[in-house]
Amino acid sequence: MSVDYLRISVTDRCNLRCIYCNPLGDCGFIESREILRFEEIERITRLFAECGINKVRLTGGEPLVRKGIVHLVSKLATIPNIDDLALTTNGVLLAPLAAQLKAAGLQRVNISVDSAERESYKRITGFDLLPKVTKGIHKAIEVGLTPVKINSVIIKGVNDSEEQILALAAMSVHLPVTVRFIEYCPTGKYTNPASDYLPNRDVRFIIERKYGPLSSVVMEPSPGPASSFKFRDSAGAVGFISGRSSIFCKKCNRLRLTSDGKLMPCLYSAQIYDLKTLIQNRASDRQIRDLLKRIISEKSNYTKLNSLKEGFSMCKVGG
Ligand code: SAM
Repeated sequence: MSVDYLRISVTDRCNLRCIYCNPLGDCGFIESREILRFEEIERITRLFAECGINKVRLTGGEPLVRKGIVHLVSKLATIPNIDDLALTTNGVLLAPLAAQLKAAGLQRVNISVDSAERESYKRITGFDLLPKVTKGIHKAIEVGLTPVKINSVIIKGVNDSEEQILALAAMSVHLPVTVRFIEYCPTGKYTNPASDYLPNRDVRFIIERKYGPLSSVVMEPSPGPASSFKFRDSAGAVGFISGRSSIFCKKCNRLRLTSDGKLMPCLYSAQIYDLKTLIQNRASDRQIRDLLKRIISEKSNYTKLNSLKEGFSMCKVGG
């Protein structure tokens, strides 16, 4: 698998307090002088593009809380060879920013929604903001930040009832979105997947009982770990990202850059490369490019299977 995808966390701060990610708000404490500046993100992205990266996704924390995010998008959108520029957001701030982001060159968004029911959404995220997020989804569709994908993590005892799962799947019946069910993974101290994880085959079983067998595969715009299916006559599709019940390290094409400039070849990687320090030490473009080429060529050595590490914070690394 060629390595052509870079996910960039632009901040470790978030405006939600999801119970499994950042319930106490104790993410978001990296000092601002340690956070990559926009010029640094732009430079790293340009050098990566020169090494074969052509897809970039901005994430966080919550990327839309970073001041000047539209400006950053406009800079990254002009980098030669980057032909897919996307963003993952919780959608809370999306409605007022969607048109500007699109005009700046953002192509598409993934929006995280773990419940389509207001009370349950509030319980999971700590805030009664589902109506705002729903506006964000509609706005993203309206301005063409498409295809819009909805990411939903299902957790036992939280949002795994038949009613909740079907309500999420039903979003794809009425809206041109792909609702992707993501298996709950072990990350930081707030996750307990050993007891709380629900395999996607159970989610699929619930959906098929209602809608009948899922069969027709919808091609993703880019090859990724999701498999997607369309119901008859539905506007959108549902998908499954089964990172816990199956291992797709061999298909992994992505690298991750944390908001303080650490490059991780694998989400579970114990090995990190400190690009921020390299830049601060005035490394030349050539020196950085040589390192990036080496990381890309060695990427397949880093997998979940040989990783030394399970605990990390998704809001720090960038989900
Ligand atoms: N704030 C943005 C958002 O909400 O999409 C971007 C960052 S958030 C960490 C990215 C994604 O990671 C979200 O869809 C979230 O549900 C997912 N995530 C966080 N912790 C996870 C876990 N333990 N297992 C699976 N997905 C997780």
